[in-house]
Amino acid sequence: MKIGVLAFQGAVREHIDMLLKLGVLPIPVRKREDLKGISGLILPGGESTTIGKLLMDSGLKYDIIEMARDGLPIWGTCAGMILLAKHIVNQDYTYLDLMDIWVRRNAYGSQIDSFIKRVPVSPISNSPLELTFIRAPYVEKVGENVEVILELDGKIVAVREGKLLATAFHPELTEDLSFHKYFLELIKN
Ligand code: GLN
Repeated sequence: MKIGVLAFQGAVREHIDMLLKLGVLPIPVRKREDLKGISGLILPGGESTTIGKLLMDSGLKYDIIEMARDGLPIWGTCAGMILLAKHIVNQDYTYLDLMDIWVRRNAYGSQIDSFIKRVPVSPISNSPLELTFIRAPYVEKVGENVEVILELDGKIVAVREGKLLATAFHPELTEDLSFHKYFLELIKN
């Protein structure tokens, strides 16, 4: 099985390494041809403004939107969550416009902009998972078809809408493969 990883910027290598550990074939995606034959796509963290611009320049944006509407599973981590959102509450434009979530960019502010938490994430793992937040967004509100996977200190930080998954944190920066396994299950089911 081939899984695309959008490879413009950010934590690309880390996602690729985790996919290799799980025995699937990661495909770095930079141009439209790279999307051919993938069964899922990961949008890594980085800077959403930069990645959003490169999505436009590369021509990938509308291909990804069309493939998502045809059921392609997509997982966005951190900046990837912002790229997927239909609503960005502190910005007047959006990117892929696919998930019915109201995201706030850089939501934790500059004082505590990066932190790690250890919590159980019930549908994904019974043992506590390490969650790494780096200038992370969180979700303020979700549409009716969106499942909240995790709320942390009153903020929504992991959501699923059909085959679309978004996490405000970076599982690829930990040693734990649980989230990647969960995404692969989402693809298979
Ligand atoms: N702050 C970044 C943004 O707004 C996201 C940070 C990240 O992906 N770690 O796009």
